[in-house]
Amino acid sequence: MTAEIISGTEIRKTVLAEIKAEVEKMKAKHGKVPGLVTILVGKDPASVSYVTLKVKTALSLGLNEIQDDQPEDISEADLLALIEKYNNDPDIHGILVQLPLPRHIDEKKVIYAIHPDKDVDAFHPANVGQLVINCAEARFLPCTPAGIQEMIARSGTQTSGAEVVVVGRSNIVGKPIAIMMAQKDVYANATVTIVHTRTKDLAAHCKRADILIVAAGVPGLVKPEWIKPGATVIDVGVNRVGINEATGKAILKGDVDFETAKEIAGKITPVPGGVGPMTIAMLMKNTLRAAQYTL
Ligand code: NAP
Repeated sequence: MTAEIISGTEIRKTVLAEIKAEVEKMKAKHGKVPGLVTILVGKDPASVSYVTLKVKTALSLGLNEIQDDQPEDISEADLLALIEKYNNDPDIHGILVQLPLPRHIDEKKVIYAIHPDKDVDAFHPANVGQLVINCAEARFLPCTPAGIQEMIARSGTQTSGAEVVVVGRSNIVGKPIAIMMAQKDVYANATVTIVHTRTKDLAAHCKRADILIVAAGVPGLVKPEWIKPGATVIDVGVNRVGINEATGKAILKGDVDFETAKEIAGKITPVPGGVGPMTIAMLMKNTLRAAQYTL
C-alpha cells in the first residue's frame, strides 16, 4: 500500500490562513500588527533566497516587515549594535539574523544578543531552556522542530507511547525535536531515541520507529528496509544533488529514498514540499506570538 503523503505545502496554507486571521484581529482591536526584522549579512545565494521567501511570506500576512541588508564586512560590534537597536524598537517584535554569518562574526554572540522575547528563531539559551523544562510554557519553539510537530499532529499520527527515533542531534533540529516529542504533553509523550554517526546499528534503531524523524543531511541515508511497515516518516533533509538543466534550479533530495519508502511507510513527508515549507510558517507564528505577548 502506498503511504499517505503529509504535504507541508498544504498544511502551511492552513497555518498561514490562521495566522493572517489573527493578524487582522490584532489590527482591528489594537491598531497594530506584528513586526519582524530580517537581517541579512552578505549575499550568500541560499541565504538570499531564504530571506526573500521569509519577507514575501511576512508581507502576504500583513506583517510590518523590515529587510535590513548589511555588507559582508560589517563588524561584529556594528552588528551587535544593530541588534540592540531593534531590541529597543517597540514596533519590532521579532528579530531574525539569517545564519550562517561570515567567519569574522561570532554566531554565538549574535544569538545571545537578541532579546529572548524577540528571539523568533528560538535559538537563545533562555528559550532553549524553557523548551527543555516545559514546551507548553516556552514563549517560542524553534521553527523546524515546531513545523515537524505540527505536521505530526495535523496528520493524525498518534504520539503518546509511540517509539520515536530521531536521526541527527543538531541544535536546530535533532536535539530540540527529540526533547519536544519526549515531553509530557499533547502531540508528544513518546519514547524517544536519538541516533547519530557514533550509533552502532542505525538500521536496527530505525526499524523500531513508529515515527522516524530524519535530519542528517545525507541523501538517501535511510533505506526502505529500515522502515517499519506503517510508520510515519518525517524527512527533514534538504540535499542539493544536481541542477535541473531545463529550469536551472537545484534538484533537491531528502535523507530518505522517497520512492521506495512510500511503499512501506504509513505516512511520509516529501522533499521538496514537506518540512521545508513549514519552517517559515512557524517563524510567522512565533512573530505573531511575540507581538501578542506585548498586548
Ligand atoms: P547538521 O548540523 O549537519 O547535523 C546532522 C546530524 O546528523 C548530526 O548530528 C550527525 O551526527 C547526524 N548524521 C550525519 N550523517 C549521519 C549518518 N551517516 N548516520 C547517522 N547520523 C548522521 O544538520 P542539520 O542542521 O540538523 O540539518 C540536517 C538536514 O536537515 C540537512 O539536510 C538540512 O539541510 C536539513 N534542514 C532542513 C530544514 C528545513 O526547513 N526543511 C531546516 C534545517 C535543516 P554527528 O552529531 O555524530 O555528527
